[in-house]
Amino acid sequence: MEDRADPTRFETLAVTHGEEPTPGDPMTGDVVSPIHLASTYALPGLDTEMSLEDLDPSQGDFVYSRLSNPTRHAVERRIGALEGGEHAYAFSSGTAAIFTFVLSAVEPGDHVVAFDDLYAGTRRMLEDVFDARLGVDVDFVDATDVDNVAAAVTEDTALVWMETPTNPRMNMCDLQAVAAVAHDADALLGVDNTFMSPYFQTPLALGADAVAHSTTKYLNGHSDSVGGALVTNDATVADEVEFLQTVGIGDVLAPFDSYLLLRGIKTLPMRMERHQENAMAVAEFLEGHELVDAVHYPGLDSHPQHELAAEQMSGYGGVLSFELAGGIEDAKRFLEALEEWTLAESLGGVESLVELPAGMTHEPLPAEEREALGITDTLVRASVGVEHVDDLLADLERGFDAMIEGAEFDAP
Ligand code: PLP
Repeated sequence: MEDRADPTRFETLAVTHGEEPTPGDPMTGDVVSPIHLASTYALPGLDTEMSLEDLDPSQGDFVYSRLSNPTRHAVERRIGALEGGEHAYAFSSGTAAIFTFVLSAVEPGDHVVAFDDLYAGTRRMLEDVFDARLGVDVDFVDATDVDNVAAAVTEDTALVWMETPTNPRMNMCDLQAVAAVAHDADALLGVDNTFMSPYFQTPLALGADAVAHSTTKYLNGHSDSVGGALVTNDATVADEVEFLQTVGIGDVLAPFDSYLLLRGIKTLPMRMERHQENAMAVAEFLEGHELVDAVHYPGLDSHPQHELAAEQMSGYGGVLSFELAGGIEDAKRFLEALEEWTLAESLGGVESLVELPAGMTHEPLPAEEREALGITDTLVRASVGVEHVDDLLADLERGFDAMIEGAEFDAP
């Protein structure tokens, strides 16, 4: 079969790249990647001129599935192409991708600077594993101002770790400016790009050395697979990550999840457009509501970093957070009255989800840390899905009605 032309447009890469018919099996011409379940592969013989090191997984040479698997490699090629990175690795979770990369970047005695408003699991990993157990000194800073990052960097800083926009306050950092600070200090910049997906933001093009994803979210997009990815153009980072992934830790995305992810990514561009359209409508509706004290969405003019958002990203995504009037009991009444929005952790799937960070995802953080981060008791995080927006808005009205009925505050 002739090679396909080499497309560069995002929508085309998302549908076909990495899955060309058919590196693994020229007999069938499968249009989609088969799910290669084999744990091991027949080798040509012991006396071949090829050593195991010479086997090239990208050419269909496979040895053992922890090391290389055709379905996993197909999705790795696709995610790499979408992020503009030469080397991509798929893991069994976003947490595993981040852990493997951070482990590859630091050693005991090193220093890490991280955004203070991170996904709570990543913050706990940096504090309770790297800082507390592995002798890595971690400082958290408000990276909305790059001067805070510059002030925190020391001669021992090996890694700067950012997430933008952050979970759940939708704060942002200027990736180009942070990359310059990191590189001046000979440190690597790693960025969690889960919230925007490569459709709206490509951190490698802005100077990051590595990009991580929880593919569980937008890349897979259907709330039916847990996975992660790490992408880089740096050959040294790639070698270290590959060694730790396949030999040191042994954490890989399973073939079935690799297939689901390949399938999910095909519709990423259309999903992201609709997520954003709905999120903007929901944000505007909430901003005008008397029972909402504040809305955090980078697409709103009122977002303090709206200008940076417009420059750094090509869209604003599908996640927002908002602060309800009243107290935690009012917020519970609101959330429990919703019928269309599901009360659940996670985000980035086609269905709309809501959660209360103070009582769910960020509950493990000490109350004073939550307060410092602006995670109030009535802050609600919404992952806006692709349903009809009028149904989503009508459901929010149902929530507000329930709040007013049982109000512990002076309802209007
Ligand atoms: N990064 C972000 C921004 C997240 O929201 C999450 C999970 O919610 C993760 C990383 C961790 O990913 P996973 O749950 O796939 O391990």
